Amino acid sequence: MKIKIGKANDNDFVLKGPSVSRYHAILFRNPKGTLILEDLHSTNGTFVDGSQILRKPIRITDQIKLGDEKLDIRQVLRENNNYIEEFNALKQVYDDYIKEKVRIQSSNQFKTRLLQSLPFALPGVVGVLLSFAGKGNHSIFVISLIITILAPTIGIYLGAKQSAKTPGKLQAINNQFKIKYVCPKCGTFLGEIPWESLRNRKRCPVSSCKAIWAKD
Ligand SMILES: [Zn+2]
Repeated sequence: MKIKIGKANDNDFVLKGPSVSRYHAILFRNPKGTLILEDLHSTNGTFVDGSQILRKPIRITDQIKLGDEKLDIRQVLRENNNYIEEFNALKQVYDDYIKEKVRIQSSNQFKTRLLQSLPFALPGVVGVLLSFAGKGNHSIFVISLIITILAPTIGIYLGAKQSAKTPGKLQAINNQFKIKYVCPKCGTFLGEIPWESLRNRKRCPVSSCKAIWAKD
């Protein structure tokens, strides 16, 4: 949340008055959630309870003035249910999640198939070796027979084991996704809905929240 305040109409909160600069101040929360008011090198200064400030933690009950104009912080916050910046950061979260999910699934599919099919090639190799080693060698014949029978079994077993690894990995990235892909205001998980679709909704659908995600 970063609320730009000033006289110009493209501010998030417009405050008119001859002593207010076009882009006068900015209001935001630091990572701890404290409201910070910062003066943007305004001509007539920003004041908290009568003292000029450049950057100061404030409470909504503080008396704020931009130049000579009073600024009601409660009103600023109410009018600016503005979470556009935090919402934009969720695009990366969604894209990374999908990329990672596809990567895990396809790499696992590849490994599973490899493990299951390689052993079937083995008896062929053994057969070639056998013909070089000379027929009639009893022990080589027995070994090749054992490999012919065992290899596919082991292959199927390893393949099955490999494919069982996927749910665990997917579960892990799923859990992370559920923690990160949430409304920046109310923390509600947004589901596996593509970020672009959410942006088209423009606001959080939770009725007690209605945080603004994108400009109209
Ligand atoms: Zn919300």
